[in-house]
Amino acid sequence: QVRVRFAPSPTGNLHVGGARTALFNYLFARSKGGKFVLRIEDTDLERSTKESEEAMLQDLSWLGLDWDEGPGVGGDYGPYWQSERNAMYKQYAEKLLKSGDAYRCFCSNEELEKMKEIAKLKQLPPVYTGKWATATGEEVEEALAKGTPYTYRFRVPKEGALKIDDLIRGEVSWGLNTLGDFVIMRSNGQPVYNFCVTVDDATMAISHVIRAEEHLPNTLRQALIYKALGFPMPYFAHVSLILAPDRSKLSKRHGATSVGQFREMGYLPQAMVNYLALLGWGDGTENEFFTLEQLVEKFSIGRVNKSGAIFDSTKLRWMNGQHLRALPSEELTKLIGERWKSTGILTESEGLFIKEAAELLKDGIDLVTDSDKALSNLLSYPLYATLASSEGKPVVEDKLSEVAASLVAAYDSGDLHGALEEGHAGWQKWVKNFGKSLKRKGKSLFMPLRVLLTGKLHGPDMGASVLLLHKAGTCGLVAPQAG
Ligand code: GLU
Repeated sequence: QVRVRFAPSPTGNLHVGGARTALFNYLFARSKGGKFVLRIEDTDLERSTKESEEAMLQDLSWLGLDWDEGPGVGGDYGPYWQSERNAMYKQYAEKLLKSGDAYRCFCSNEELEKMKEIAKLKQLPPVYTGKWATATGEEVEEALAKGTPYTYRFRVPKEGALKIDDLIRGEVSWGLNTLGDFVIMRSNGQPVYNFCVTVDDATMAISHVIRAEEHLPNTLRQALIYKALGFPMPYFAHVSLILAPDRSKLSKRHGATSVGQFREMGYLPQAMVNYLALLGWGDGTENEFFTLEQLVEKFSIGRVNKSGAIFDSTKLRWMNGQHLRALPSEELTKLIGERWKSTGILTESEGLFIKEAAELLKDGIDLVTDSDKALSNLLSYPLYATLASSEGKPVVEDKLSEVAASLVAAYDSGDLHGALEEGHAGWQKWVKNFGKSLKRKGKSLFMPLRVLLTGKLHGPDMGASVLLLHKAGTCGLVAPQAG
């Protein structure tokens, strides 16, 4: 059975890189009918916080990446917090000690420092060369009797190579002669990261380890521990880095990088998920728009790219627009209505006016936050204002004057008002007759009309805009500051 995991360290926010790793794991599990496990790697007690953990869980849920086992849902392979698995690590460390794949190292920090210095001087790799790798039973007993603190060190084979078949990168191999015996348990009894991860992945029956490329050096150590403990080796897939447009490592100086920041900026989870999936993956066609369900259907780990993916925030914004426009009308209305109410542009968050305004303006916006400007822009020209103030005399530019004069007349007679009261059909009928009376149609009719009625040369559908302006003037929904 396919079992994959996402294993964040709760030491900060969920970044786009982590979110993409979680997504690929999720998609792999769902597409294979497997399980998606969430494990909290909180062994670094100083840097791990509950707030960070909660925020990460919240971000994952917001993205729609629900997990089958882990915090909040439990499961048969718990506990799902590393900080609660110490007894297990200890047990496996003892096992390695017994088999001789690990040994007690009583070297002091000073001795270790000296070893490093000498290696540096001799231009050799900084591997452990202390005596405890080959110490006799008596020497160990003696040190124990003295109460000298010790670590557990993993005995790395001194020759040969280790090879894995990475599902993304193909064969990856390491020579073992440059890897020194490494610590798996500190002198205070705290197990070391690589050791915990191996014991966890093995005892949680993880079949595929999908994680960032930067973990490759850890994979070497972990694979050695797998072998020594006789655990079956999982498949590994190392996903390439996410890069900034200048191909440097993506970081804070490139702008927003955490999922929470994007949520606060008004991004939709659907758009985030879609965009993250495209960072290193594609279905092989030109298509770039995918829902989470479609991604589950199409995803294959073999199509994940080996080279780094560029994080392009402009494209993410564009993608958000695609998903915004794809929302069902009620959802779009709710989203935009709540936004307008919360920012004070409107006094209510629902109603026909909002539905019509949202539908009218959605083509010109990518983010829900753009809708504020779009609406104020539209409403910034109170309908009839020019007409009412011109008192029968066309006050506008020459080119517009003929149309303006007739429009003023239509306004004065109440014709226009009456037509707009009848909605779209009323407007259409009115505009047709109006054009006929002036012997104008197409551009020569609509351009001046648009300018006179909306105050702008361009914009969304004119009839809908005018009807909306009419409503805005009569429905009492529009907050005073909009005008
Ligand atoms: N806890 C590690 C991290 O946050 C992930 C470990 C892993 O995926 O093996 O980067």
